[in-house]
Amino acid sequence: SEEKSLNFIEEIVENDLNSGKYETLVTRFPPEPNGYLHIGHAKAICLNFGLTQKYGGYTNLRFDDTNPVTEKTEYVNSQQEDIKWLGFNWKNELYASDYFDELYSFAVKLIEKGLAYVDEISADEIAALKGTPTEPGQDSPYRNRSVEENLDIFTKMKNGDFPDGAYILRAKIDMASPNMLMRDPIIYRIKHAEHHRTGNKWCIYPMYDFAHGQSDSIENITHSICTLEYVSHRELYDWFIEKLEIFPSKQYEFARLNLTSTVMSKRKLLQLVNENLVSGWDDPRMPTISGLRRRGFTPKSIREFCERIGIAKRENLIELSLLEFCIREDLNKTASRVMAVLDPIKLIITNYEKGTEDLIGENNPEAEDGGGTRVIPFSNELWIERDDFMEVPAKKWFRLAPGAMVRLKFAYIVKCEDFVKDENGNVTEIHCTYIPESKSGNDTSGINVKGTIHWVSAQHAKTAEIRLYDRLFTSETPDAEEGDFKDYLNPESLKVLPNAYIEPALADADLEGRYQFIRKGYFCLDKDSTADKLVFNRTVTLKDTFKK
Ligand code: ATP
Ligand code: MG
Ligand code: MG
Repeated sequence: SEEKSLNFIEEIVENDLNSGKYETLVTRFPPEPNGYLHIGHAKAICLNFGLTQKYGGYTNLRFDDTNPVTEKTEYVNSQQEDIKWLGFNWKNELYASDYFDELYSFAVKLIEKGLAYVDEISADEIAALKGTPTEPGQDSPYRNRSVEENLDIFTKMKNGDFPDGAYILRAKIDMASPNMLMRDPIIYRIKHAEHHRTGNKWCIYPMYDFAHGQSDSIENITHSICTLEYVSHRELYDWFIEKLEIFPSKQYEFARLNLTSTVMSKRKLLQLVNENLVSGWDDPRMPTISGLRRRGFTPKSIREFCERIGIAKRENLIELSLLEFCIREDLNKTASRVMAVLDPIKLIITNYEKGTEDLIGENNPEAEDGGGTRVIPFSNELWIERDDFMEVPAKKWFRLAPGAMVRLKFAYIVKCEDFVKDENGNVTEIHCTYIPESKSGNDTSGINVKGTIHWVSAQHAKTAEIRLYDRLFTSETPDAEEGDFKDYLNPESLKVLPNAYIEPALADADLEGRYQFIRKGYFCLDKDSTADKLVFNRTVTLKDTFKK
């Protein structure tokens, strides 16, 4: 059997556990509650939780909530729901905001060690003094304030004595460092804003770099895994931990997930929601976990996708069709096969005199147990797909045409005898005769036909609205295009078919059910459904366009 090779983070973890560097592996997933989680987050979730499932130890869920302006409890709740739905359980539910007192005392400690100072020059002046990657920066005139003065002003900042922007606290590191982030980075700013958890207790908030590593350290995180944009932050991450003499968490970086025809920043997804360009965070076209769930993706298919893309050290772009391949593979094994006619036209069987009869259909020939069977009512008036009939058949046309024969799935062979057109020349009815001896499973007719089409009995059918989806963007790389990414939205990403007919068994569909509409793709019920009006989403087409 083929053994899967370790990814580079698993190698690091195995070494650290084997060498005895750590006894227990501790990882964390640290979302900022400023939006819904997306498929990129799923990659980080599978990685962090997957490591502790494999090597023992545990994973914390830590909300990185140090920016009061963008964060909301709604997002906290949705993020928790999505992680659980993906199949993972965290050990501790934690909030960076729970560490505000501790982070404040860390800042005081740095001031006391002469390693932080209060600055009061403007943002423009800070930028001007910062230098460039090739030229050293210059010291702020306030860089050498006394420890006492720094402590005094910092205390007043905390007490609310100053307006936003009047002062900032900076780490005192090296204005000539080749790493721009080490040139006295800002670690606290004044922000008179209400926080979703701490309310108005604080009017100074720590910057990301001052909160993240220290939060890792407070939680004894052994391997703090983040995306490649943070490579240059690692030096600062280590500097704070060293100077504060706290638990030495270590940061490791992997390549974020980039997907074709997809934007993935929460900030951009929020724009789509706020500007009503999609119906919400869980619009089935969104790359959010909640959108994918509503679209019909299963947790298993998303975990499988994350497994297949692997963990790399270099940026790459993954084909959206790989994600579709993963859900198709899963649903092929689990989805019940049913019949639905999306663009209906009437087929009348002129010699069928029985009225109606019940046929039996196997639910899933791919399932180990066949998935059971169900009753499918048949009658002399059926709905079939408009495009299964051609008045003037093309070459190699094996479906219906004047004089041609096809098999009706689970039922009989029929022969097209005639058709009716309206005043505009559109075909409105197809008239057939059926071959009584050709019943599926018991065919003694000796007739071989090449085409099989699906149908539903008109008097038994339920009506449904069907929503078909396509790529949300016309560009493969909407983030990289000229101008606004929203200029590349696909105007045809949603197609609504208001009057489809489905077999009556689907009246019992629930939100968990997964169905293959024969020849049409995989579908699931949408939450917009009511008792009177069923709505189905197409999760994915049947055709596999992904090249392995
Ligand atoms: P966004 O811009 O979408 O908000 P973010 O990195 O700011 O992304 P966070 O909430 O801070 O969002 O992310 C939580 C965790 O998820 C981080 O550890 C981050 O590295 C990881 N993550 C975010 N986006 C991706 C992605 N596209 N691929 C892999 N991991 C990601
Ligand atoms: Mg972030
Ligand atoms: Mg972000």
